[in-house]
Amino acid sequence: MASGPKGSEDPSSLQCCVCGHQAQLFELPGITAKYCLECSADVATSILLTTEIDAATLAGQDACGLIAECSQLSTRLLERAQSA
Ligand SMILES: [Zn+2]
Repeated sequence: MASGPKGSEDPSSLQCCVCGHQAQLFELPGITAKYCLECSADVATSILLTTEIDAATLAGQDACGLIAECSQLSTRLLERAQSA
């Protein structure tokens, strides 16, 4: 409780770091950024997809479908970030 009102806690950190929405924020394991419910779901899915793509590639499988899904998701996240 030593930090004053002008400490490291910036009010902007209460916004979703993707869409800038001020809402209840969620942290994903291993990621310091905070996201609103909608974005955290998409980010979590994209992390999952990336992992699956890596696994499929390593196993010599066709990851085209996963890659397409992943890029669609990234586009959606980008669009949301730009419309903020
Ligand atoms: Zn968001």
